[in-house]
Amino acid sequence: MIQIDRNHVTKNELADLLRREDFRDVYELADRIRAENVGDVVHIRAILEFSNHCRRVCRYCGLNARNSALPRYRMKPEEMIETAQEAARAGYRTLVMQSGEDPWYTPEILGEIVREIKRSAKMAITLSCGERSRDVYAYWKECGADRYLIKQETADPAIYASLHPDSSLEERVACLKNLKSLGYETGSGFMIGLPGQTAETIAMDLLLLREIGCDMAGIGPFIPHPDTPLRDQPPGSSELCKRAVALARILLPKANLPATTALGVLNGKEKNDIFSCGANVVMRKVTPTSYKRLYEIYPASLTDTDILADRRQLEEQIRHLDRIPL
Ligand code: SF4
Repeated sequence: MIQIDRNHVTKNELADLLRREDFRDVYELADRIRAENVGDVVHIRAILEFSNHCRRVCRYCGLNARNSALPRYRMKPEEMIETAQEAARAGYRTLVMQSGEDPWYTPEILGEIVREIKRSAKMAITLSCGERSRDVYAYWKECGADRYLIKQETADPAIYASLHPDSSLEERVACLKNLKSLGYETGSGFMIGLPGQTAETIAMDLLLLREIGCDMAGIGPFIPHPDTPLRDQPPGSSELCKRAVALARILLPKANLPATTALGVLNGKEKNDIFSCGANVVMRKVTPTSYKRLYEIYPASLTDTDILADRRQLEEQIRHLDRIPL
């Protein structure tokens, strides 16, 4: 079997691996490392998209502040708490609370919501609310947040700058390092198929995950959104995504690696396949239906099922793949 030295593999070696004609032995290695380090369990995370307001203008994202075609919503704190409780009753143990960068939720408002969900629903909480100061991250940790998700999106500073006119890769990485040093389980991730990206860029992305020491990494394809400046770009390759997930598993043996929702959008069969190349997590929206359709970072086909029925169906699909839903 192929050997990859996770602590010393270089950018060029990773890029060569990504370009290989036959990747099967790398997939086999990733799957073995997954089985040895995180076992056969697939963690199902509930994701609550509580606000689609965003002050930023990321050029790939349907929620960007310049998209005037999008009706905006904010969930009330009580609604968020009730939804979290319903998700807990359905069996979810982790709630990912995600929003655009929406200053309406001050540190205090969001902190109180986190406290109440921890108290009444007893779930692990992952926040995914963008770039904030170290002090704010520290405060939310005190309020009970366990994990934080903020993707690097790309490790190439020039591509990052072209996609994010109002921020820099340096600031993003500083946020990730602050979170890690505050004791959060820290999640990053990146997109495959961004304009200007090469195998070397993806190799840099993988090495940045290793440098930060990420506990989670979401790797998914770029999918063009019709209401963004990148509407005419081609979508990212799902095969390349799977390869990047497999290499992330090799570099970060114990990390939680979601089979991204975006990958599911591309092809249901491929989403199933991704569990065999290193992924061990799946995210499920518990956002109330009336809001769910208004939270489109990329176009998605969404179904209207209730939280419990949706979870049961997913558990069944996971068992069908000989994995254990949790
Ligand atoms: S990617 Fe995040 S920060 Fe950027 S516009 Fe979308 S929601 Fe806002």
